[in-house]
Amino acid sequence: MAEKFDAIVIGAGIIGACTGFELAKRGYKVLNVDKLPEAGHGSTSGSCAIIRLHYSTPDGVAMAREGYYYWIDWPKYLGAVDESGLVKYINTGCLVIKTEKNHYLKNVMTSLDELNVPYKDYSPTELQEFLSILDVKGFGPPVASNNERFGTPTKESIAGAIYVPESGLISDPKQSTHNVQRAAEAIGGKFMFKAEVAEIRKKDNQVVGITLKNGDEIDAPIVINVAGPHSFIINRMAGVEGDMNIKTRPLRQEVCHVSAPEGFDYNNLGTIISDGDVGCYSRPEVGNNILIGSEDPECDTMEYIDDPDNYNTNFTEQWTTQVLREAQRIKGLKIPRQPSGLVDLYDCSDDWIPIYDKSSLNGFYMAVGTSGNQFKNAPVVGALMAELIKAVESGHDHDKEPVQFAMKYTKRNCNIGFYSRLRKINPNSSFSVIG
Ligand SMILES: Cc1cc2nc3c(=O)[nH]c(=O)nc-3n(C[C@H](O)[C@H](O)[C@H](O)COP(=O)(O)OP(=O)(O)OC[C@H]3O[C@@H](n4cnc5c(N)ncnc54)[C@H](O)[C@@H]3O)c2cc1C
Repeated sequence: MAEKFDAIVIGAGIIGACTGFELAKRGYKVLNVDKLPEAGHGSTSGSCAIIRLHYSTPDGVAMAREGYYYWIDWPKYLGAVDESGLVKYINTGCLVIKTEKNHYLKNVMTSLDELNVPYKDYSPTELQEFLSILDVKGFGPPVASNNERFGTPTKESIAGAIYVPESGLISDPKQSTHNVQRAAEAIGGKFMFKAEVAEIRKKDNQVVGITLKNGDEIDAPIVINVAGPHSFIINRMAGVEGDMNIKTRPLRQEVCHVSAPEGFDYNNLGTIISDGDVGCYSRPEVGNNILIGSEDPECDTMEYIDDPDNYNTNFTEQWTTQVLREAQRIKGLKIPRQPSGLVDLYDCSDDWIPIYDKSSLNGFYMAVGTSGNQFKNAPVVGALMAELIKAVESGHDHDKEPVQFAMKYTKRNCNIGFYSRLRKINPNSSFSVIG
């Protein structure tokens, strides 16, 4: 006889764990299944775990602001002990460089103002006083490393930057997922690892359960796809891609790990930098190191992956390009002989905005397409998904009249319809990890 649950969450990454936790809080008998051996072992473990508030719309800022409050209130959010320790939010602040492409942050500043998020508007001179190791010359728009103008300044100085002091990072993204697992288990949530979903079973357009690769069947009238870079496989298994206007696919990313310039205490004096002028983002990393990721400039070829279980996990020329780009901004940054860092996958949607939605199959939901920027929002997304599921299961027609989600800290309403699978591609997206 198949074991029965009220809801099955496919995936135990940070978004899946938070979704399971929030459903358990609302009284659902819930199971998270994951094919990997531990929570957060998938793309969450590769996350840079940056918690930043700058987005170009008030709704984007509101969501991140809401998430920020969950992270700084982490033990209260969990309400449970994790024997292996709780993660910490580390405040570093975040510098965002003004560029023509981001409209010199006009929309970002208006959005931050609307949410009362404090920031400082720096001129290039003030910026240099703020962080002496910054080179404030303009290098953008970014070009490929084989372009002859690569590394040559295009302007005497950038237009300036804003500094958002309330920004930072989570000490260990994988462990944060374990924290949520323990919190969910404390209120009855169940987790099953090394369990690969091979089939989504349905009857009369209603999901009835899953079948694992080993043949075991588990029944539930609600199944939620939170499979990260594997989300498109699960959606195809459920046969729900047909009516989706926005779809997801895995995108390969390299993150570089380099030493900070010698003699500079980057852990204490450094900050997150979102730098569209050189096409990179970076953040301090323990041991006086710097992590460097790509802001996906238009000159770079995006490497979409067909098989998320089989792709090149070695560093390529892209690694060197990213470090050389960052070295344009940070004076004295050395290019190591031996590349280090990590290669991982984003679950990228067509417009780089996530899909938090129901589907054409009754009882089948998805929290997918997190496009490299939703770690920070995970606790909010968990609550949003649980409210969406509760409303739809009680008969609400979300496709016709989108469910409104009340955010508890910012006291704003989030129109979940914004994240619909049926939406048109959002032309206001940055089409990058910036979201
Ligand atoms: C390199 C990198 C840097 C990032 N940096 C940031 C950042 O600084 N800030 C930020 O906010 N966000 C960032 N992100 C994004 C953020 O980390 C992700 O959005 C988030 O971790 C996704 O969580 P998830 O639970 O949806 O997916 P995952 O963590 O990938 O979890 C999905 C799980 O589903 C499981 N699964 C898949 N298929 C099956 C199956 N058939 N059966 C059973 N289980 C299955 C997988 O094993 C996996 O554990 C980054 C992402 C990456 C890759």
